Amino acid sequence: MITRFAPSPTGLLHLGHAASALHGWQAARAAGGQFLLRIEDIDATRCRPEFTTAILEDLGWLGLDWDGPVRVQSAHFPDYRAALAQLEARGLLYPCFCTRAEIAAAPHGPDDMPVYPGTCRAISARDRAARIAAGQGYGLRLDMAAACGCVGTLAFHERGVGRITCQPARFGDVLLARKDTPASYHLCVTHDDALQGVTLVTRGVDLFAVTDLHVLLQALFGWPTPDYAHHALLTDADGKRLAKRDKALTLRALRAAGHSPAAVRAMAMGQSAPAGPGRYA
Ligand code: GLU
Repeated sequence: MITRFAPSPTGLLHLGHAASALHGWQAARAAGGQFLLRIEDIDATRCRPEFTTAILEDLGWLGLDWDGPVRVQSAHFPDYRAALAQLEARGLLYPCFCTRAEIAAAPHGPDDMPVYPGTCRAISARDRAARIAAGQGYGLRLDMAAACGCVGTLAFHERGVGRITCQPARFGDVLLARKDTPASYHLCVTHDDALQGVTLVTRGVDLFAVTDLHVLLQALFGWPTPDYAHHALLTDADGKRLAKRDKALTLRALRAAGHSPAAVRAMAMGQSAPAGPGRYA
């Protein structure tokens, strides 16, 4: 059993992160397996090194230990580029020159991102080459229809639920590299789970839908599909999910308020609610 916690250092860890980490840590320790820590800092516009430092410190305070070195994604861009090159060589990617504003009005998919209307899929090879030569910025999109044509029926095992059949096509031609970020979360997370031999992914249920994309990428690359265990999200007193802006429930704030690591572990696992907001949906 190999589990992992893979936070993005875009803010301080809160109780929801602690739940993801604890589920993975407990599963690994109970099975005599390994628990890995990975920092998903591919988006340089949103991630900050001081949050990485805080994550390591907060997890240590919480009483979690991890096995082996911490993988920091920003140090491995060539790995992700090589994976993208494989898909490109199979004709499964195309450059997209659209700006966010140009596609913002498209209907949104299950991940609440606009489903790409396919504008740049139709651009001829000659025009693409000319635009790139002219220095126009571009991302890389997966040709979803072509990708789905390469694989059979896809499914994964959700712990405590059973077999979930995947429907990745509903996401449309997803971006696997952005103009300003050489690889997307979906590519990097599946690449690294495979590289690191992760057998159980524990994370919030907000990532349940995009698991379909991850399973598609695993099938395209011939990577194994781990088991998944998506946990409920912590919500505030109004039933809204906790976000990084909810400062009161960061591990830092709880620690400063005098809660012990054991008490915070219990809160995160839904065994006791902190005074005030914070409970499972
Ligand atoms: N890095 C992602 C996040 O912080 C989580 C990735 C995952 O657990 O699959 O939202």
